[in-house]
Amino acid sequence: MKALLLVDIQNGFCPGGNLAVEGGHEIVPIANALIASGRYDLVVASQDWHPANHGSFASQHEGKNVFELGELGGQPQMMWPDHCVQGTADAEFHPDLDNAKIDLVQRKGENPLVDSYSAFRDNAGDALTGLDGYLRDKRVTELDVCGLATDYCVRFSVEDAVEFLPGVKVRFVEDASRGITAEGIAQAIASMRAKGVDVINSADIMR
Ligand SMILES: [Zn+2]
Repeated sequence: MKALLLVDIQNGFCPGGNLAVEGGHEIVPIANALIASGRYDLVVASQDWHPANHGSFASQHEGKNVFELGELGGQPQMMWPDHCVQGTADAEFHPDLDNAKIDLVQRKGENPLVDSYSAFRDNAGDALTGLDGYLRDKRVTELDVCGLATDYCVRFSVEDAVEFLPGVKVRFVEDASRGITAEGIAQAIASMRAKGVDVINSADIMR
């Protein structure tokens, strides 16, 4: 069973969104081509889904600016602009994403007291979303992951997939992903590779 995990392809992470990733929208046609390729038995999409008072927002910390390091739940926390607030357009999937073929939407980041980069668990590592059990129940043997942003939610989702799904071949689809900084992307790719993840492009899948 082959599965595709689309991480956070939401308006908030595309140009015009509250936490826009440069070129974020460029991955939408690639993601659609992967979905339409017929190579996947299962398509899962994660969705950052924050309450308006989420603790990862700089606006919730007096004197803190966006993109500066703060603290949340006793852990270092990047202070983000308000983004992907539940029920707002910012939290919706990109309008061009072919979401009719998505089998499961995995929401995350609903607890205001902890951030959740990974589609599998929160950043404190305590609360699992249940996605690992879902993929295990479906007997997934191969998982390709892409989306936004490479240096945060994609990386942590990929690395958790490796940890939670032993025996499953996990691949990162680089051209179907965009990251926030060049340095962060390079670090993420090196870290994923070190954990045994294959880094591929969509052409490798659709050839
Ligand atoms: Zn978020």
